[in-house]
Amino acid sequence: MGYGGNTPCVEIRHMGDPPIIIDGGTGIRWLGQKLAKEFEPGSGEVNLFLTHFHYDHIQGIPFFGSLYHPLIRVNFYASVPAGQLERNLGEQVRSPYFPVRMPAVENHYYEVPPGGVTLGAVRVLPVPLKHPDPVTGYRVETPHGVIVYGSDHEHGLPEYDEGLARAAQGADILIYDAHFTPEEYPNFKGWGHSTWLEATRIAKQAGVGKLFLFHHAPDHNDEEMARIEQEARKHFPAVAAAREGLTVEV
Ligand SMILES: [Zn+2]
Ligand SMILES: [Zn+2]
Repeated sequence: MGYGGNTPCVEIRHMGDPPIIIDGGTGIRWLGQKLAKEFEPGSGEVNLFLTHFHYDHIQGIPFFGSLYHPLIRVNFYASVPAGQLERNLGEQVRSPYFPVRMPAVENHYYEVPPGGVTLGAVRVLPVPLKHPDPVTGYRVETPHGVIVYGSDHEHGLPEYDEGLARAAQGADILIYDAHFTPEEYPNFKGWGHSTWLEATRIAKQAGVGKLFLFHHAPDHNDEEMARIEQEARKHFPAVAAAREGLTVEV
């Protein structure tokens, strides 16, 4: 109730550039409402980067108002060929799963190349993560700071852990998959998620400015989340559990 129960969706704004959204979890419905007000009455553009296609990361997309807004252009990005990206989403946003078909005309699909994409003054670089299906995290570089989104990720394979630590080097903000507690984790090896303790390790190693624990387990209540935050602070003081609607300025 306090930390929030929506599934992953993060908005990154750089003044003067279109919004960058990472993941289309259930939180994207509110974001769509906010954007509609912001763009009114003119036109707009949003760039939506998907990490992967697990339900919790795409289930808000059918309810994302910008998709149906005649003056808003939605650009979808993922580390898969553009045609596959369009198919993966189109197969979900249609009967019998949803009464409306994915609106085709105003949406555009792009594959994120290994070298990343530049959108205005912002550069978005892909970061391969370890998960049961392929996942791409993102390093978002702006003239004012760097934000790294590292969810969904399971620690333990050096090539991925080191890749993420390299990508997070000196970042102002690291958003990291802290789904499990270290006590819970041994029973869920291979599920594709990490812990707050690993989050603090990587934050220290990469020297990030601020760490946000992310992808909270739905079974952790507010009390448990507050305890996790406290424990994590002993290992890395600049840490907080991500909260619904939280805004951070870099
Ligand atoms: Zn996943
Ligand atoms: Zn997930």
